Amino acid sequence: MSKQSKRIEALVYHAKPTPGKIKVVPTKKYASQRDLSLAYSPGVAEPCLEIEKNVENVYKYTAKGNLVAVISNGTAVLGLGNIGPEASKPVMEGKGLLFKIFADIDVFDIEVDTENIDEFIETVKNIAPTFGGINLEDIKAPEAFEIERRLKEELDIPVMHDDQHGTAIISAAALLNALELAKKKIEEVKVVVSGAGAAAISCTRLYQAFGAKRENIVMLDSKGVIRDDRENLSAEKAEFATHRKIDTLEEAMENADVFIGLSMADIVSPEMLKSMAANPIVFAMANPNPEISYQLAIDTRDDIIMATGRSDHPNQVNNVLGFPFIFRGALDVRATKINEAMKMAAVKALSRLAKEPVPEQVNLAYNETRLTFGKDYIIPKPFDPRLIAEVPPAVAKAAMESGVAKEPIEDWHRYRNSLLE
Ligand code: NAP
Ligand code: MG
Repeated sequence: MSKQSKRIEALVYHAKPTPGKIKVVPTKKYASQRDLSLAYSPGVAEPCLEIEKNVENVYKYTAKGNLVAVISNGTAVLGLGNIGPEASKPVMEGKGLLFKIFADIDVFDIEVDTENIDEFIETVKNIAPTFGGINLEDIKAPEAFEIERRLKEELDIPVMHDDQHGTAIISAAALLNALELAKKKIEEVKVVVSGAGAAAISCTRLYQAFGAKRENIVMLDSKGVIRDDRENLSAEKAEFATHRKIDTLEEAMENADVFIGLSMADIVSPEMLKSMAANPIVFAMANPNPEISYQLAIDTRDDIIMATGRSDHPNQVNNVLGFPFIFRGALDVRATKINEAMKMAAVKALSRLAKEPVPEQVNLAYNETRLTFGKDYIIPKPFDPRLIAEVPPAVAKAAMESGVAKEPIEDWHRYRNSLLE
């Protein structure tokens, strides 16, 4: 299909038959006058009073507990940059669609017209009573770090900036599996991280939580290697500044075991790949075009384990493997936050699932004959029906064990079955 016809196809998809991608559907009967008098005045006053008496009753009588806000100010949308709140709306609606189809979570997408950190935080705090959880989306770094940190502190519902943690969780699962295949230890590998934005910082922090050593990590931004003698580093960049006296990606790549790309298209050359250690792990995740193209990378080295952000190659690092299931687990135990333990539990569940035999329906969905754990299959596929049964319980359990679950699950068998319904 030509570029032009793909463009038209996407526009028609969004415009017809109804503009947009999601709508609101009633969940109660509304056929008779009696139904309406329950749904609205006077019947509706009863739950209002119950909630006034005890605010926790809002979970019993309203849709709050299954409703997530996908909130953006449109400052870092896909790879398109700061395109403004209205232009970000198709992405936020799309996220709503994914939450619904993968985890049966309802979403209101909220586009906020401010680039001011305090104003944005104030807006989210003021509308938080509506929601069971907050998914922050496509907000530019470094503002996104402060916005998420402060909202997590100030709200008692789960808050997650998916561009940071979604990518971190999925890529960490892929990394653990790639390391297993390459027979390397996370504590020992030399890691190059290209990019120091929202995604790169959060990914690197999570790899550290799994054992990657700070002294083995070199991070680069648009100015080159982030050295500890560089001036005016943000706190996030300073966290990963290296003492090594190197400046370029070329130098950093020599003998590296792992390359993590969350930066720009086409900045890695075949020569750089050749200078890496044996069985190199290359996650070139810049979207839509990776740091080195999939084909060029695998043509350059046959011992490479490669992942990208693209669906047209094996090993797509796709956030949809994470956020629906992480919020599902968090909402189901009424977690007050999404903490490190819950993220790590999601990573382990995803990595474990990739090593299990793949159901035939997944092969069929992807036109594959036999997906099996190996270089071309290190993370599960989004249309794997086992995700909903495996990831939310792992997240929910971690929430309970780390003491943030207000409503612990008692019957796991029943819970698992309810997820599959
Ligand atoms: P971001 O916050 O804007 O960060 C981009 C980072 O890349 C910045 O630190 C920037 O440096 C750095 N950079 C720019 N040019 C560079 C170069 N030539 N060499 C090294 N670093 C360079 O964006 P983000 O949200 O983290 O996303 C970054 C990229 O990852 C995007 O392409 C995005 O599409 C992709 N991504 C993919 C996935 C996925 O595959 N699932 C998920 C999230 C993000 P400065 O700090 O100096 O400006
Ligand atoms: Mg995003």
